[in-house]
Amino acid sequence: MKQHRNDLLLAAAVLLLAAAVWFFSRPGGSGAWVVVTVDGQETGRYALDQDWTVTIGEADYNVLEISGGQAAVVEANCGDHTCVRTGWISQEGETIVCLPHRLVIRIQGASGELDVVAR
Ligand SMILES: [Zn+2]
Repeated sequence: MKQHRNDLLLAAAVLLLAAAVWFFSRPGGSGAWVVVTVDGQETGRYALDQDWTVTIGEADYNVLEISGGQAAVVEANCGDHTCVRTGWISQEGETIVCLPHRLVIRIQGASGELDVVAR
């Protein structure tokens, strides 16, 4: 009887560990970042699982909104508005690009490993 109970405890511990590994390794999930670069320089990074509204730039501006685990440029004064039309991104590696403003918004996973490989 005692042996049986120990087996159950062990099984529970293994399940918990598996759940933790899954939670921390899934891409685009909790812990992901929205990384903003202008002209190749990182100007800010924002947690994807929090809600933010950020205005990037002054004369040339893009309004970045992060809401419900997704990010989008909701307003901009660039000529082509490609960045606004891109819509919402949420998966690791997805980008919004605003060529006129040399702006790149990218989803980066919590590990940052993709970033290291890309360099
Ligand atoms: Zn644009």
